[in-house]
Amino acid sequence: MRFHQSESAFFVLITVILAAGAVIVHAYGVLHTSTETLYQPERMEGVAYLSKLLFATGVLLATALFFGIFFIYPQIRTQVKEQGKLRAMTASLSARSVTLEQAALTDALTGMQNRRYFDDALREYLEEFRKIDKPVGLMILDLDHFKQVNDTHGHDIGDDVLRAVASCLKDMTRYHDVVARLGGEEFAVVAPNMDADMLTRLAERIRKAIAATTVFNGNIRLKITTSVGLAVWDRKETAEEFFRRADKQLYEAKRQGRNRVSA
Ligand code: GH3
Ligand code: MG
Ligand code: MG
Repeated sequence: MRFHQSESAFFVLITVILAAGAVIVHAYGVLHTSTETLYQPERMEGVAYLSKLLFATGVLLATALFFGIFFIYPQIRTQVKEQGKLRAMTASLSARSVTLEQAALTDALTGMQNRRYFDDALREYLEEFRKIDKPVGLMILDLDHFKQVNDTHGHDIGDDVLRAVASCLKDMTRYHDVVARLGGEEFAVVAPNMDADMLTRLAERIRKAIAATTVFNGNIRLKITTSVGLAVWDRKETAEEFFRRADKQLYEAKRQGRNRVSA
């Protein structure tokens, strides 16, 4: 087993201190004997020997002190500094990885959850709801003729519209609903504990709220509508199949003329 330098130094210190202890014990014995023979002629020799022993003790303790102050303390100090630096680095790294993880799951434009988060969340919700007898609703929304908004008013105004829709969706949904931007002008809501009727009513409220939203930019006032496809989980299909079924309904809403909900 190899000791760290500071450990070896520490062992030296302990040995020196133990040696000093042994010398003191021995000195005590000598002193005791000298006291008994205090008035004997040879007492001067004893006192001289005792003073030598005490001197040796002093030297040993001074050595211990020297080691402690000039060798062990700087090492401990360095270690403490390094540990502090390491701790700070670990903290900043873990904070960074939390930030990165959040960034990987967040849509930069709207601040909503992104497609990756949505896919995982949908799968997790279905797994959980498989165990309990409660419905899971899914809503896919696609803005109508959004390309025209970009073409007519520019990409920045298009971005404003996306942010306005995102904020509307956040306002209209519950805490445990998953609301995500899937990409482009497509959004989705996973609504646990919602049967077909409740889901349709929520989708209608959202559709109307988006249609009632006006985006202002300079002297531009802009309105947008959305088509919505709905599905309630049949408890057998996979997340992908469930999604595809809602997506088909979205296509149906578009086909029927847009700005409507299809279930
Ligand atoms: P439909 O009613 O059939 O959905 O027509 P649409 O024009 O909305 O659909 P289409 O798929 O043709 O156009 C989607 C547009 O969304 C095209 C693209 O320029 C725009 N888009 C995608 N991502 C962004 C974005 O981040 N910002 C902006 N401003 N536009 C985007
Ligand atoms: Mg689209
Ligand atoms: Mg569209």
